[in-house]
Amino acid sequence: MDYDMRFRRADAFDKAEAKCWHEIELASKAEIRRVQEEKLAMQLAYLKENSDFYRDKLANARISFDEVRSIEDLQKLPYTFKTEIRESLAARKPFGLHLAADPHDIIQMQASSGTTGSPSYVALTEADAEMWHEMSARCFFANGVRPGDTVLHAFSMAKGFVGGIPVMQALQYMGAVDVPIGADGGADRLLRACEDIRPRCIVGAPNFIIHLGEKAPEILGMKASDLGVARIIVGGEPGGGIPAIRNRIEELWGGKCTEMLGGTDLGVTYWAECDDQSGMHMVNMDHIITELLDPDSGKIIPFEKGAQGEMVYTAIGRQASPLLRFRSGDFIEVLGTSCSCGRTGPKIRCIGRTDDMLIVRGANVFPSAIHSIISDMVPSTNGIMRVVADFEGHTTQGALKVIVERGPDQLPGGDAELKSQIETRLRNALVFKADVRIVPTDTFEKPGAAKVTLTLREYPDLS
Ligand SMILES: [Zn+2]
Repeated sequence: MDYDMRFRRADAFDKAEAKCWHEIELASKAEIRRVQEEKLAMQLAYLKENSDFYRDKLANARISFDEVRSIEDLQKLPYTFKTEIRESLAARKPFGLHLAADPHDIIQMQASSGTTGSPSYVALTEADAEMWHEMSARCFFANGVRPGDTVLHAFSMAKGFVGGIPVMQALQYMGAVDVPIGADGGADRLLRACEDIRPRCIVGAPNFIIHLGEKAPEILGMKASDLGVARIIVGGEPGGGIPAIRNRIEELWGGKCTEMLGGTDLGVTYWAECDDQSGMHMVNMDHIITELLDPDSGKIIPFEKGAQGEMVYTAIGRQASPLLRFRSGDFIEVLGTSCSCGRTGPKIRCIGRTDDMLIVRGANVFPSAIHSIISDMVPSTNGIMRVVADFEGHTTQGALKVIVERGPDQLPGGDAELKSQIETRLRNALVFKADVRIVPTDTFEKPGAAKVTLTLREYPDLS
C-alpha cells in the first residue's frame, strides 16, 4: 500500500462517497504496525541527523537511536514532558532547542493556549503543514464533513490557536469552504452568517455551540434547528461526548453532533467520532504512534476496552517540531476497538487533563468527570457547577466541595434531596466523598463549563 498523501484539491471530490478519507483508517493491526515501524525508523534517523535536543536527551539516557526498532522498543526511550518543551522554548526563542529543521524551511507557526504561563510556539515546514491538513481532513470526514460542504467556523480565529487558521486550511484541503467568522465575532455575527449562508456544518466548542443555539430565537427570531445545519462538530474542551451535552446540542440545532480531539503539539485534531457516536477513533496512526500510560503502575498498557490512562504521542514523519513519547496530559478511557463504520483505530473519550486532576483521600478525581455527572442530572440541575479547590496543591484529605446550580425542575425534597442525590452519584461513580452545595441558577458565568475548578483565591462570596 502506498501512503503518499500528496494530492490536488480536486481529487478530494472523488472521496465524497468513500467510507473514510484514507484507507489506513480501515487497515489491520499488522499493516498499521508495519507502516508505523517503517516510519519510526525514518523519524529516528531524521532526529539523529537533525535534532540536538533528542541527541542530547538520548545520550543522557544512555540509549542510541539504533536500539529502537519496534513499537515496543519505544519504551526504552525517556518521555518528553511539557516542562522540557517550555524550557527548550525559553532557551532559544521562538521555536526552542528542539527545532529540527532549517529556519528557512519554516512556513507556518501556531501558538498553544498555554494553560500555564506564556504561550508556546510550534513550527511547521511545508511537509509538516500538509501532514496537519491530512490528519484533520480524516477527522472532519469521520465527523461528517464532505467535500463541497460549507462549514461555519465557531472556534476562535484569533491568538494563533490551532482551532483557527489550521482548521480553515484543513477544510480547504478537503474541498470544503470555511466561513471564517470565528467565536471572536460573537454570537450575533455568527448566527446572522448562519442565516445568510445556511452552512451544512458548524464547528466549535460544545458549550459555545449550546450558547449559540440558545441565543438564536432572540437574535434571529427563529430556532437554530430551523437553520438547516446537519452536522455539528465539537472539540477544544470536554463535553461533546457527554450524552446530556450532546443531546442538548442535537435538540437545539436539529443536526447530528460528533466530537473530535487533538492539541497544538501534534497537530490540530487527530481523534474523531464517526456516525456511530460511540467514542473518538484514532485515524492518524501513520503520523502518530499512541501509547497508553497507566499512571498508577507507570507501565504502558494495551488499548483494550475499559483501559484508562494518559495518552503518550510520538510523531512520525515530523520535521520542524518533532516529539518522541510526548506526555500529552490527556487522560482517556478506551471505549472500544471495533466499530460499525469499519475503522480499526481504538475509540476513546477524554476524561480530563492530568494537570487538573485532584487527589481526594487517595482517589484520582477529574473535575470534568464531575461535570459529566452533573450534566446528566439536568433538569434537576442546569449542568453548571464548580469544584472548589480550597486547599494547597492537588491533594486533600477532606470532602471535595462542589457547588452546583439548581435546575428548572425542583425535586419534591428540594435542595436537600438534590444535594443528597448528587453526593450519592458522585460517590458511586467516582469513588470520592463530595460536600455539595446547591446555589441559584446564574450564580456562575455562562458558557463557562470548560473551567470548572475554582482555586482558593477565586472562591466567590456566595453567602
Ligand atoms: Zn466508527
